[in-house]
Amino acid sequence: MTINDFLRESGFKFNKKFGQNFITDTNLLDAIVADAGVTENDTVIEIGTGAGTLTRAIAQKAKKVVSFEIDQNLRPVLDFSLKGLNNVEVVFADVLSCGIKKVESLAEGSYKVVANLPYYITTPILMEFLENSENLTSMTVMIQKEVALRLAASPATKDYGRITLAVEFFGNASLTRTVSRKMFVPQPNVDSAIVRIDKNPRFDTDRKLFSKVVKAAFSMRRKVLTTCLASGLNVSKEKAAEFISALGKPLTVRGEELSIHDFVRLTELYKNDAF
Ligand code: SAM
Repeated sequence: MTINDFLRESGFKFNKKFGQNFITDTNLLDAIVADAGVTENDTVIEIGTGAGTLTRAIAQKAKKVVSFEIDQNLRPVLDFSLKGLNNVEVVFADVLSCGIKKVESLAEGSYKVVANLPYYITTPILMEFLENSENLTSMTVMIQKEVALRLAASPATKDYGRITLAVEFFGNASLTRTVSRKMFVPQPNVDSAIVRIDKNPRFDTDRKLFSKVVKAAFSMRRKVLTTCLASGLNVSKEKAAEFISALGKPLTVRGEELSIHDFVRLTELYKNDAF
């Protein structure tokens, strides 16, 4: 019996509240695992086991999979779909309430995240793992296409913004493939894409201050950076102009034209001046 038949015959009710849009196409599932670069040495944390289809595809390549699922109603489905796999542990819990400490104790060392994320909590999950996990090496996640484009955007493009830089502070994001909404059961209203984020060594700058500078720079999209910084950081226009010149940029530059390295440097200039 296929997993689709099992879901139908067992009367499983998809819960929209939990973002339950499942993938059963084995080519796509294998492609996600390949994009993540999972090998037999890897421990993988999955967020949202669903019907266990991606879990199974990961388990076939990884050393161990620990998969978090909030919905207890999936127990009988997973008993069926994960039968015979001895390197999978399913934890029935809300991954965000569990906390990173619990995740790390189950991973027992470095790990990759691979997930078809529940879209209603994409950003909180990404930021929780990127900000707080010591042992995370990469995250390969299926997310809404519009969000994926923003995460992987380059400077001076329309998708480049605060979320791009918030993620780039911790790692390099690249879009590996787009996925039609038709691939999901039930079908959502949006298309999706897969993004892989490889963690970088942290920038040696104060993250809160970095966020403040980025927020100021993007506060008024049509204004030049000098105006945005003066107002958002509460400094004089002359001081803002001084920062921009120190970056080697013209005074006509806009926030969206700066790279992550420019923003890190700008944060340092602001910090040295203000504190
Ligand atoms: N991995 C499966 C697949 O690819 O078909 C399911 C993906 S589905 C988009 C997201 C899954 O995450 C659902 O099964 C949902 O119940 C689960 N989920 C939602 N919120 C969660 C949370 N806070 N913690 C753990 N799992 C969650």
